Amino acid sequence: MAKINQGFLNLKENYLFIEIGRKVREYTEKNPEKPIIRMGIGDVTLPLAPAVVAAMEKASAEMGVKETFRGYEDSGRGYLFLREAVAGYYKGMGAEIDADEVLISDGAKSDCGNFTDIFSADSVVLVSDPVYPAYVDSAIMNNKKVIFADATEETGFAPVVPKGAKADIIYLCSPNNPTGSVFTAEQLRGWVDYALENKAVIVFDAAYEAFISEAGLPRSIFAVEGAKRCAIEIGSLSKTAGFTGTRCGYTVIPKELEFYSGNGESLSVLKYWLRRQGSKFNGVPYVIQRGAEAVFTPEGQKQTRESIAYYMENARIMSATFDELGIPFTGGKNSPYIWFKCNMPSWDFFDLLLREKQIVGTPGVGFGKNGDGWFRLTAFGTRENTVEAMKRVKEMLQK
Ligand code: PLP
Repeated sequence: MAKINQGFLNLKENYLFIEIGRKVREYTEKNPEKPIIRMGIGDVTLPLAPAVVAAMEKASAEMGVKETFRGYEDSGRGYLFLREAVAGYYKGMGAEIDADEVLISDGAKSDCGNFTDIFSADSVVLVSDPVYPAYVDSAIMNNKKVIFADATEETGFAPVVPKGAKADIIYLCSPNNPTGSVFTAEQLRGWVDYALENKAVIVFDAAYEAFISEAGLPRSIFAVEGAKRCAIEIGSLSKTAGFTGTRCGYTVIPKELEFYSGNGESLSVLKYWLRRQGSKFNGVPYVIQRGAEAVFTPEGQKQTRESIAYYMENARIMSATFDELGIPFTGGKNSPYIWFKCNMPSWDFFDLLLREKQIVGTPGVGFGKNGDGWFRLTAFGTRENTVEAMKRVKEMLQK
């Protein structure tokens, strides 16, 4: 008899975006004359950089010529040209990464979700609360126990190592989705020390690292001494280069990173992850990898940085509004998310904002219990909509 993986029955219904969609549809049907400004889902609005498009056009043409056509990529890690480009990017951030430690992915989500596959079923997964829901769901699907590290207003929404907790796999995300908070070097040091002490592995989600502009804030966990012995890092071109629909990212797994067999023998994480990928993943298209390579050229960096600057100007406009209103918030400075205190249950505020001002955001409670009373807006919209939305927010909250 075919039986379902119990993990899927243990999942909570994911109401968040379904419920948002339902409420928005209902409102639009009743009020078709009132256009809605969407600041809820974190998708980008600017197109790919010209350098990326040109590289993909060139690569497409190569695929149509016998001599330059490519089939399967056989290293199982992604093309060397892109892995070297990523390693070069890390060098620019002050981290020495070997191109063989870089694995090209179809975006951050797959590896974030799949990584727990190679760990024993009794591994304990620690995530923050509030949290990007994919970490929790994938751990539960994998029948792993999940524990939470509180991230609250008191801690600036940085998760704090829970006293006495024993975790084997730790998900950290900085700049954070949803809270926009960014770890200081000292806070990251604390997590690295915990992981080293407990022989745990940190999955560091750096999908938003390119939004950090403040000197001294770590853009990679590998900026912390010892992190190569306890962490992997997951990167994405989705938000930094508009690849949400193009799909490409990278995962860095240091060669020295180890985990253990049942009898305590140490084993290479990279080796077993490659073993998994060899059976379950056939790589990212050549054309896309060439487009991704172009992101890391000086021209590609200049162009993608211009898009990031555009979004961060939106974030600045939003931060200035909440500053002016005297409303506590995190993010907006080194992150495209603004996470603000709405002083009522998050869903009530969602309804109010939609009804009064036709703005759609994301209720904080959808990311965990510590998110209730908080609300997320994204800076990925157009300038025009951002300015208009902040005008409306001011009208509503100044009252
Ligand atoms: N990690 C975080 C924290 C995210 O917010 C997202 C997307 O919103 C992802 C990973 C997934 O990104 P990708 O599009 O690269 O799969």
